[in-house]
Amino acid sequence: MSNENKSIHEFDFSLICEYFSSVERQGPGSAETTIKALSFVEGLTDKSLIADLGCGTGGQTITLAQHTPGQITGIDLFPDFINQFNSNAEHFNLQDRVKGIIGSMDELPFRNEELDLIWSEGAIYNIGFEYGLNLWRSFLKKGGYIAVSEVSWFTDERPAEINDFWMDAYPEINTIPNKLAQMQKAGYIPVACFCIPENCWIEHFYMPQVEAQENFLRKYADNQAAEELIANQRHEQQLYYKYKDFYGYVFYIGKKI
Ligand code: SAM
Repeated sequence: MSNENKSIHEFDFSLICEYFSSVERQGPGSAETTIKALSFVEGLTDKSLIADLGCGTGGQTITLAQHTPGQITGIDLFPDFINQFNSNAEHFNLQDRVKGIIGSMDELPFRNEELDLIWSEGAIYNIGFEYGLNLWRSFLKKGGYIAVSEVSWFTDERPAEINDFWMDAYPEINTIPNKLAQMQKAGYIPVACFCIPENCWIEHFYMPQVEAQENFLRKYADNQAAEELIANQRHEQQLYYKYKDFYGYVFYIGKKI
């Protein structure tokens, strides 16, 4: 399809995909953090079935696969991410245990009580934390685990600028005790939670984007949509440096009861 035939939304969408395909991660995180979250999950065997929802290109899925037995299905809405996900799995010789499929996290192709572990880094916000926890619970076996990272407030109060930014971007952002209460209410024992370290944002998410942004702007010189996309990313990054004492990603690990 030529660009003239695309709606602005389709054009933005493909730009966003292209931009984020050029970096290893599409959200803050790191191998160390994935491994730490995994340390709270017990009882996985090579028969275990694991889903990584909103897997992106699979940065965290590869780490997961290298540190767990069992079969992992990655699910993401965007075909380009899934293509790259499956190439990554092959590159690491994990294609027999790790498969990416295109799909939506609110229409999962699993049977009731089929999964041993549901993983989702920086992605449950797409359908909302509470809704996602409730919806996904039915696919987990009793005693199965869920591990999700979710943006959360670190304090009860914060400056208006960052409060307004997040209220607009994701009104379901909440404090850690409130998120834990939501997890418990959804039918899980909150087994652990921890704040992901700043290096997950800075070294693993924002720093790789510096070069990616320059390349992208060079490729799309004079393209307003591309310029706006990068300006948004840079704004979000500046807010993080300014207000990182007030919010961040938190890993929540729960066990289905
Ligand atoms: N988990 C990856 C990581 O940590 O690098 C990606 C996180 S990125 C912030 C959010 C991901 O959710 C994107 O890959 C996006 O394509 C995916 N996504 C958005 N809406 C989705 C949906 N309804 N179903 C499945 N994936 C979705």
